[in-house]
Amino acid sequence: MRGIECNIITVFPQMFVSPLGESILKRAQEKGLLRVKIYDLRDYARNKHRMTDDYPYGGGPGMVMKPEPVVRAIEEINKEGIRSKIILMSPQGRRFTQAKAKELAKEERLTFICGRYEGIDERVSLYFIDDEISIGDYVLTGGELPAMVVIDAVVRLIPGVVGDEESVKADSFFSSILDYPHYTRPASFRGYKVPQVLLSGNHDKIRLWRRKEAFKKTLEKRPDLLKNVDFSEEDICLLKEIKGERGY
Ligand code: SAM
Repeated sequence: MRGIECNIITVFPQMFVSPLGESILKRAQEKGLLRVKIYDLRDYARNKHRMTDDYPYGGGPGMVMKPEPVVRAIEEINKEGIRSKIILMSPQGRRFTQAKAKELAKEERLTFICGRYEGIDERVSLYFIDDEISIGDYVLTGGELPAMVVIDAVVRLIPGVVGDEESVKADSFFSSILDYPHYTRPASFRGYKVPQVLLSGNHDKIRLWRRKEAFKKTLEKRPDLLKNVDFSEEDICLLKEIKGERGY
């Protein structure tokens, strides 16, 4: 059974306990599909007070994470086994996408370096990493939440992690468009009804309706995504129908 190993280098190991100890990520570990190893950066600091940060050269505000503990942790991770891909979480990295999640899900070993304070000594990103990932154009206090976001998105793509793989395939972005709308009981809620077709039991009609609704949502919310779609003939008919209904 294929799985993935995720190593996390952090000064706040406790932050990972709950997100990794619940639900799908917990079960993935129980099934052996996810192996998580947390490296407490303080264990790799050799100074008296186990300091992992220091004042910035050149002055200025804040503290900078020292390079030696981070690199020692990376070397420990890569001492044995297949070399791990080393990823620095950083707002300056390339923006994380579903395509990137798919790419990372093919790896056997990933290592996430979580920065804090003003970030990590630049020499780490210049000489010791393979990739730098941002989860969006905003700045968080640390790389722990971004690492969790990436791990969650990657691990759910490993076959066997999510019970029904078809649900992963229908998710937004998986096939370049947004997901179709989902409904559950009751069929009428405060007068708002579930679309009749979903109660019809006609699977082909339901499939077509879902594809069409997914296109409608994508046109409304993220039309930029449609340029990446490889349209089938059926898709083109559905898009024509939508165009007709909207009068453009
Ligand atoms: N001074 C840095 C800058 O402007 O690029 C920001 C440092 S931030 C306060 C501390 C750490 O949080 C970063 O080293 C990084 O690991 C993490 N971080 C913050 N925002 C992030 C984002 N959008 N994506 C990924 N990591 C982020």
